[in-house]
Amino acid sequence: MGALHGPGAEIGDLAGRVNRFITDRFAGAPLGRTAAADEMRLALDAAITAKGLGIARAWDVFANGVMANTVGIDSERFLAFIPVSPAPAAAWIDAIVGATSVPAESWIEASGAVAAENQVLTMLASLAGMPTGAGGCFMSGGSIGNLSALAVGRDQRPTQRLVAVADTAHASVHNTLHLLGLQALTVPTGEDGRFTGAALAEVIGGRDDIGIVVASAGSTNAGLIDDLDGLADVAERIGAWFHVDGAYGAATLLLPEFADRLRGIGRADSFIVDPHKWLFAPAGSCAVLYREPALAGAVHTQHGPYIDVFRQNGDEWNPSDYGYQLTRRASGLPLWFALVLHGTDAFAAAVRRGVELARIASTAFDSAGPHVSTVIEPELSVVLFRRLGWDRERWVRWARELLDDGVAFVAPTTWRGEPVGRLVFMHPLTPTTVIDEIVASLA
Ligand SMILES: *Cc1c(COP(=O)(O)O)cnc(C)c1O
Repeated sequence: MGALHGPGAEIGDLAGRVNRFITDRFAGAPLGRTAAADEMRLALDAAITAKGLGIARAWDVFANGVMANTVGIDSERFLAFIPVSPAPAAAWIDAIVGATSVPAESWIEASGAVAAENQVLTMLASLAGMPTGAGGCFMSGGSIGNLSALAVGRDQRPTQRLVAVADTAHASVHNTLHLLGLQALTVPTGEDGRFTGAALAEVIGGRDDIGIVVASAGSTNAGLIDDLDGLADVAERIGAWFHVDGAYGAATLLLPEFADRLRGIGRADSFIVDPHKWLFAPAGSCAVLYREPALAGAVHTQHGPYIDVFRQNGDEWNPSDYGYQLTRRASGLPLWFALVLHGTDAFAAAVRRGVELARIASTAFDSAGPHVSTVIEPELSVVLFRRLGWDRERWVRWARELLDDGVAFVAPTTWRGEPVGRLVFMHPLTPTTVIDEIVASLA
């Protein structure tokens, strides 16, 4: 019976194996593969036993059964959905966050980690132009971040159950509305794919039952930033809570050339950005910010005999007061460390490379011949493109072939009902030769 704990924990040479695995990963993450359910059943057969397999066999199941059958979302060639491309500095510190379970729900447990996380939150709020006093917490992801923020918005306007959202809003916004008992008032985006103040005003007309307006600082499907300033104007006029979902795109707050496009984000009552997307943190991190954090505290603070001690002086910052999560990883700490180590310029350069790669891809599609073209000029790091004559089934086959051939992990999407190709560039080291290979795959 192997000891679980202490210096005698029977883990063999696991520490060395893990260290090697992670180091190799940062030298180049494999694209990986997707296995069929039957194959996985065999690979994991009898892995959990009464006596344990011992380190050699346990590691074999883990490395060759589990990880080998998992796609590398951190690969330079993962260009689907929204990739996660952690900076090694952030990932190594995340390993410590995991190993020590930094108890980051409360100030009395984790004053150091919470202060460091808050330094990042203050930086983000300041880049956005939010007033002093803005604050929030890091949570596990954008979905729970949107849910937490919109729950606060709902409670400020208890009788107004309608939420104005664009037809491009992220799926998590719709699920959030369902969970919160709110209804969507869907506003169509125009030709350019953006949710504008003018379109919102037109749909509202004389209605007075809209409690929340949700905008995107980077819609996920096409990577387009809404008319944040115009939407803020309308939200202000009708007295609605203004939420900006910047899970993916708000990383461009680091780029001065995006200041114009992001104007208005600082007028949000709440906004989110996911460090695990374009801020190069490992998966499991979303920053939620509120203009008036006390409003969030009134909604999310958990009370109970064993946690009321969190509030002794009244001035402790308890992250768990600002979102629907009590026990939490210090999921902002890896980003904090990487910012401290590298500085913000390195982050800006890495984000900018994604924007450049999307433009390079768009130009390549537009010059590939009459059968291929970009759907809409990329603004962030997403490129949508057409291939004449291809239906949904052909696009799905295209994606499967690119994975089988080790070229890239891609996924098609739809744009206004039309099946199209989609690439997302996050990893700053994605070679442009991948774009050439993808162009060739469309011949
Ligand atoms: C990814 C995304 C979300 C959801 O975030 P998760 O971290 O995946 O839960 C919400 N909104 C937008 C705009 C996104 O891109």
